[in-house]
Amino acid sequence: NLDTRVQIQSNDEVGSLAKAINDLSVELNNYRVNRSELLANISHELRTPISYLKGYAQVIKNGQYENEDELKIYSNIIESESERLAKLIQELFELSKMEEGMIKLYVQSVDIEDLVESVVQKVQLKGQEKGLILSMEIEQNLPIMQTDGLRLEQILLNLLENAVNYTDKGEVNIQVNKVKKGIQFAVIDTGLGIPPEDLPFVFDRFHRVEKSRARQMGGTGLGLAIVAELVKHLQGEIIVNSKLGEGSEFRIIFPLTIRNESEILDQL
Ligand code: ADP
Repeated sequence: NLDTRVQIQSNDEVGSLAKAINDLSVELNNYRVNRSELLANISHELRTPISYLKGYAQVIKNGQYENEDELKIYSNIIESESERLAKLIQELFELSKMEEGMIKLYVQSVDIEDLVESVVQKVQLKGQEKGLILSMEIEQNLPIMQTDGLRLEQILLNLLENAVNYTDKGEVNIQVNKVKKGIQFAVIDTGLGIPPEDLPFVFDRFHRVEKSRARQMGGTGLGLAIVAELVKHLQGEIIVNSKLGEGSEFRIIFPLTIRNESEILDQL
């Protein structure tokens, strides 16, 4: 614990400089604490799939299985844990790039209806397998958006995948409307919902409502953290509403046209 705070004795310029130094010192300390917490989380998250991989590889090596079916189950676990590990590494890399401000946006004309249809298509099979109704309510004659279409797709896909994953029965609905500030996308499900005490933290890295449940889904706990970062980059805002046992609703509002900042590569 490094306390580098300066005593403030006056209200003049030296006093305000001292205050600025103190604020900076508190911020730096918070950063240190967050960083070491994050590193602890990352190493824990990496160790878990690795211990599964090692454990089941040993089981197979030592022939500790009764029959072919059991062998298949263990091999499947090895396969899905490897996939999770790869996803985790890829997502961590993506998050750190975003946080360093190192992602480039490719702004283009985006037809909202086409984009939403293609995203829904991607989760259709999974939804059908679970017996869910997937529906779209897209307002007519929406204007063309000027934004990064691929990033927008990534955000919506993430929310839709979560909606399908965390819904056992009922419906997943995506609504798109023109609003005062731009375009509003809402992903609404009739799923498991999120307890109120977890709601403020769902966008935090590695925050999961129920660890065992999330693990079964193959989740990494980074999906919504990535969504939140991407939404920020696309100059939007996101809010979540949810009731345990009833369902969840993620609403995002994006400006119709993204402000063209220096780091944004405008292809038009
Ligand atoms: P994960 O990779 O574990 O899904 P996310 O960051 O995408 O991680 O989500 C964080 C947690 O928020 C999840 O573990 C899940 O418990 C909860 N969650 C996210 N979306 C939904 C949803 N639509 N319904 C219920 N719970 C959700």
